[in-house]
Amino acid sequence: MVVSPSPISERNIGDWLRLPPAGLQLLIETLAENHRVVGPQVADGAVVYRDLRGIAELPVGWLDEQDGGRYRLHQDPTAGFFDHVVGPHSLKNFLFPARETVASFVRTDGEWVQQTHAPEDRPLAVIGVRACDMAALRIQDKVFLGSGHVDPGYQARRQRLFTVAVNCRRAAATCFCHSMACGPAVEPGFDLALTERDGWFACQIGSPAGHALIQRLATADAGIVSCTVEEVDAAKQVSIDLEASMHARQPEAGAPRPRSLDTHGIRDLLYAQMEHPRWEEVATRCLSCTNCTLVCPTCFCSSVTEVADLSGDHVERERHWASCFTLDHARMHGGSVRSSTASRYRQWVTHKLAGWIDQFDSSGCTGCGRCITWCPVGIDLTEEVAALRHSDPP
Ligand code: SF4
Ligand code: SF4
Repeated sequence: MVVSPSPISERNIGDWLRLPPAGLQLLIETLAENHRVVGPQVADGAVVYRDLRGIAELPVGWLDEQDGGRYRLHQDPTAGFFDHVVGPHSLKNFLFPARETVASFVRTDGEWVQQTHAPEDRPLAVIGVRACDMAALRIQDKVFLGSGHVDPGYQARRQRLFTVAVNCRRAAATCFCHSMACGPAVEPGFDLALTERDGWFACQIGSPAGHALIQRLATADAGIVSCTVEEVDAAKQVSIDLEASMHARQPEAGAPRPRSLDTHGIRDLLYAQMEHPRWEEVATRCLSCTNCTLVCPTCFCSSVTEVADLSGDHVERERHWASCFTLDHARMHGGSVRSSTASRYRQWVTHKLAGWIDQFDSSGCTGCGRCITWCPVGIDLTEEVAALRHSDPP
């Protein structure tokens, strides 16, 4: 007996749809009616998030090669729309922008008056968010919304965020989301999630907002139909197979070393190694350039600068990203409490992988691998932690 699937207008949260490329195009266009839509695109030699008008701008046919201090793109006719993995941008670039005016003040008749800053008019929709970056979103939510202080700008942008997540079909050598329990399958929290198949996408509905969008698409003739049970199972198998292959990866001659991180007892391990000579050794290579903290999707440090115009009657208060790799980050009266590169690298790694657990009840690392790829000298925190783990405390 053949059972006709119910119309997509009757699909619910958790259900899967078969989306042809024309359906993804329609999805982007429909989102753009009331969102700023961004998605991955090839620009400046990398896959970065840019404003997205349609599927023609997606990096179809491009693959990335990543290793310590190395990122290269090459074309591959077998690569789909989303077979690249993460580039230097993440959701952090939009929800917690690198530079933002948080307040301004005007002096009128000798009185200072604060001007309020409304959030951007258009809510944001991001296409192509990977599992590690959805995990980073959950971590940043704890920082900006759940730690006793609510950041109003982050909150305003986060509440209206629409995410179209993507389940990865391949991993870079620098990816270790499987070690951090952050991927490669996207966890619930997305609005829609895509798994790319041969010439179409399996699309899972994840939220009321995702469901409402699908309802709108249902009225158009975009070839969107319900997935069969077999299609759903095959789509789920993509992440299962990728995770198994990531666990089984072995170094190969001439190929970048696949990364993993042993997280067993990592908090206590790092706290016990505060005086280990490895920190001084890595400091001989580290440039204190701050790249690792800037590309990290969870790093949240910021600093505030107030700038007055020449009249002295108008002041802008600007918040900008800061980094624990700078001397100023730990400056107190009398000087910096972390004056050496070794102490700053140690601060970053022990906060990310140990102190964060005390502060936020989760690791600060999702295994996205960006800090490895974008470190100009290829310093690799998986390698550094392994070195600390496999040597005795001094
Ligand atoms: S510490 Fe490195 S691997 Fe971990 S989330 Fe940050 S950038 Fe990604
Ligand atoms: S670890 Fe690498 S990216 Fe980070 S500050 Fe040092 S040199 Fe720069």
